[in-house]
Amino acid sequence: MRSFLPVVLVALAAACSTPSQPAGPVAMSDLPNISTDAILADTRKLSSDEFEGRAPGTKGEELTVQYFIEQFKAAGLQPGNPDGSWTQKVPLVSLTPQPQGPVVVKRGGQTRSFKIRDDIVVFSKHVTDEVRLENSELVFAGYGVQAPEFQWDDFRGVDVKGKTIVVLVNDPPVAAIGNPNELDPKIFGGKAMTYYGRWTYKFEKAAELGAAGILIVHETVPAGYPFTVVQGMGGERFDLVTPDKNAGRAKIEGWMSVEAATALLKMAGQDYQKLKARAATREFKAVPLGATASVTVKQKSRTLDSQNVIAKLPGSDPVLKDEYIVYTAHWDHFGVGEPVNGDNIYNGALDNASGCATVLEIGRQMAKLKPQPRRSILFLMVTAEEQGLLGSQYYAEFPLYPLQKTLANINIDGINQWGRTKDLTLIGLGASDLDDYARAAADEQGRVLRPDAEPEKGFYYRSDHFNFAKKGVPALDPDSGIDFIGKPADYGKKKRDEYTSVDYHAPSDQVKADWDLSGAAEDGKLFLAIGYRLAQADRFPEWKPGNEFKAIRDKMLGR
Ligand SMILES: [Zn+2]
Repeated sequence: MRSFLPVVLVALAAACSTPSQPAGPVAMSDLPNISTDAILADTRKLSSDEFEGRAPGTKGEELTVQYFIEQFKAAGLQPGNPDGSWTQKVPLVSLTPQPQGPVVVKRGGQTRSFKIRDDIVVFSKHVTDEVRLENSELVFAGYGVQAPEFQWDDFRGVDVKGKTIVVLVNDPPVAAIGNPNELDPKIFGGKAMTYYGRWTYKFEKAAELGAAGILIVHETVPAGYPFTVVQGMGGERFDLVTPDKNAGRAKIEGWMSVEAATALLKMAGQDYQKLKARAATREFKAVPLGATASVTVKQKSRTLDSQNVIAKLPGSDPVLKDEYIVYTAHWDHFGVGEPVNGDNIYNGALDNASGCATVLEIGRQMAKLKPQPRRSILFLMVTAEEQGLLGSQYYAEFPLYPLQKTLANINIDGINQWGRTKDLTLIGLGASDLDDYARAAADEQGRVLRPDAEPEKGFYYRSDHFNFAKKGVPALDPDSGIDFIGKPADYGKKKRDEYTSVDYHAPSDQVKADWDLSGAAEDGKLFLAIGYRLAQADRFPEWKPGNEFKAIRDKMLGR
């Protein structure tokens, strides 16, 4: 499920604009229903202990891939790889950091050790046996942001090459002029998170500036997740294999607790809260701490090939069949890991056996639909989402069908397991014409669309559709509704918070006795309608004016 790690705002464009062709020739009432039994059965199967939590490169992967192929065949779909196979190989490297002792900080005569895991979590993307920081100068660099459009530069006048930067999580919370209790909506998205708030941005920025190390200070509220989630990043991690073996990255990337950061800054004669307040202003300048950090991390590495699985329903139109709509769902989860309450299999039922099950069922129904879709429909189950959206990144970089002929991506990451809703959430609502398709279908179901309730968490950038968006392909990021029929107003939020705190990325993410997939089936039918109508449409859906991906798409299409 969408990684619970900070991210971006999607540029919201004006909501009123002419839809490309949201309503298709076939009414919702004439489209096939999505079977709750089928979704439940496939979710149960994929999340059973037999599948061992579906970690890439394990027996769980083999079983998962095999299961998809059987189901796709049974549905009457064709192998999706033009080479005639059902899979796309995704070369991954896995790195397991083994820190050799604590992070040692020295300043003058003072020395202080910060414990790995308790205080600091470190890892590296360098594909090598050992990485080391040796007395690397520490610099506090505010939010670690360079945003010329906001005249913002946390690195102004400071060279951090070879140094280790300490930066704050999320984007700078700049107060509105005349109202210190509100965020200025004109900068860094106001309440919504922008790209600059995302941890991946900060690591990328450190690499760009030649920093040797980067530590992000974790705070639960602005991060949106507890330190335990960050601690989980200190284990085995996957990456795509790049030609330079990731040597362009900072040697050490990591996180530190707010307590550790406070202690570190105190050593340097600085007050964390005061620096943090200053960092939320344009006047802030990075502060060299007069201290150094050292740590050695040995790494176990292994390379492995994982797989995306892909099926195709060829279009019925001789010309339009060379144009595509692609459904995605990530099949991977965390495999077997640290036991919680005596259970060590991370079954990933909701995350994301449920999304795969929904895509399978859409495939089955789509294959039977009359008239058949004019354009081709792809059903793509991607790997290594939980490791940083890697399978979808690989597909977007090495697409099996041209992206300029790919109309849209519809991604399903988690489903609604608590019954019917009057609404459907679209993360990044207003981003593209796909929203108009969704709105038309929802309207026929007597439902409404709702924007992301937590724009401050920047969800649009946290699942596989983002890799399509980044390349310009309009991408839909739906989420469950929150207004449950016949339930109290706070029911949806309560259930969701419950899931996040108890089951999210935990072995207890299993099919529960109280699951009610009637709402998920309605959502699934809506997704089917969108894909089908896109397949029949007279023109391509577009990003709305003002959207950050529009220029890429226009260029790709020669507009
Ligand atoms: Zn997940």
